[in-house]
Amino acid sequence: MESYFKIRYINRRNHEELEMPLEKMVGILLSLEMDTNFHIEALKAQAIAIRTNLVKNPIVEGEGMIEGWEKDDENKGKIKKAVDDTQGLVILFNDKPIDAKYHLSCGGSTENSENVVNHRIAYLRRVLCEHCKNNIYWRREKDFTLEDMERLLKVKFPKMDIGTESEIIGFIEDIEKDEHGRVKSLRVAGEKISGKELAKLLNLNSTRYSIFPTGVKFITRGKGHGMGLCQYGANVMAEMGYTYLDILKYYFTGTEVRKHILPSIKKPLYGKTIIIDPGHGGEDEGYKGDTTGLLEKDLALKLSLRLKAELTDLGMQVHLTREEDITLSITERIEEANRIRSDFFISIHADYFNSSSLKGCEIFHFRKDYNSQKLGFHILRNLKDKDIVTRGVKEGNFYIFRGVSTSSLLIEIGYLSNPDEEQKFLDESYLESIVQGIVEGIIEYYK
Ligand SMILES: [Zn+2]
Ligand SMILES: [Zn+2]
Repeated sequence: MESYFKIRYINRRNHEELEMPLEKMVGILLSLEMDTNFHIEALKAQAIAIRTNLVKNPIVEGEGMIEGWEKDDENKGKIKKAVDDTQGLVILFNDKPIDAKYHLSCGGSTENSENVVNHRIAYLRRVLCEHCKNNIYWRREKDFTLEDMERLLKVKFPKMDIGTESEIIGFIEDIEKDEHGRVKSLRVAGEKISGKELAKLLNLNSTRYSIFPTGVKFITRGKGHGMGLCQYGANVMAEMGYTYLDILKYYFTGTEVRKHILPSIKKPLYGKTIIIDPGHGGEDEGYKGDTTGLLEKDLALKLSLRLKAELTDLGMQVHLTREEDITLSITERIEEANRIRSDFFISIHADYFNSSSLKGCEIFHFRKDYNSQKLGFHILRNLKDKDIVTRGVKEGNFYIFRGVSTSSLLIEIGYLSNPDEEQKFLDESYLESIVQGIVEGIIEYYK
């Protein structure tokens, strides 16, 4: 079921690309995005948020992510459980996967989207989050000297001369000095105090002093943009006994969590029916390769069975005229095909010619059948994209076409008389390319 939804991983270091199943990438990202010591229900909520984002955008760029995942065995069990227990679940709003934002700690309440990204997102509303008060990010202080600030912000503050005093209203004010520049009295936090007393309390060397601010303290609450799922809050909720569903519904207003990964992507062929006809069979061996003795009937069956598995995964109803090595007449095939109402009938064959140089895949459609012609073009183009030699889409007047009542194609996947191609037909990855080319052609046709 998960086999079709693939994530494209781009290695940022060498720009290499790699495809991997959705659920594996959910696991990898989960191990990076949330502390694995968190409660399992919080991890599940996070897994669903990650999956939702991947379904929205199936491309991930990173560095060393895969290597890190392969190495780390310690936390895999818990991560895998969180991923497996929520397999296929995504967060939906109006039946569409949401932009599942999350952050480490909100600091007391999450944020309305318009306060962060300048536009209103219906499911990213401010919710109170008492939960994350007990974490280290709840309230943090950071001190900066004025010199630090000048350096970090690339600004210059006006320089104060030693000898002039600065009052800081509400803190230090009403500084009175005598004619020698000694502080006679001042107000500290509203309280009047003598210059001498202050010097004593603060252990200053002299009452001849000036005061000016040299630092600023910043106090922050929370960590991150504050929209959507608050991870610390989620963890506390989980510890209180809430489930991942409670958690997600709390932080993503008005959403639902369902096992529905976009039929258009996940099950693009749902509701479609196809009949695949593996050529020949049983006593009818079809053509035979000259160098390896590979039989057309076996090759056709092997490819057809693989096509069935792939297309079924994509939601398609697939019928084969034969699933084993049995003899079937053309009439029996036609009867079988017409017994089921299908969208397409595809017959799989390999060709043979008395010149060994001829090679490549050729697709035939029935005269004036523009649906199958169009499907043929899509399949051929996708095969070509996979570096398979192609010879074009042509009209064919096969007996089987005249009998089958639905749109039909006959695919000659190559030449058993060409030693090069014959050899390739024994190569699993080459067969996989043919299967994928046909599958992608069918998907493209229905787009
Ligand atoms: Zn919070
Ligand atoms: Zn044949």
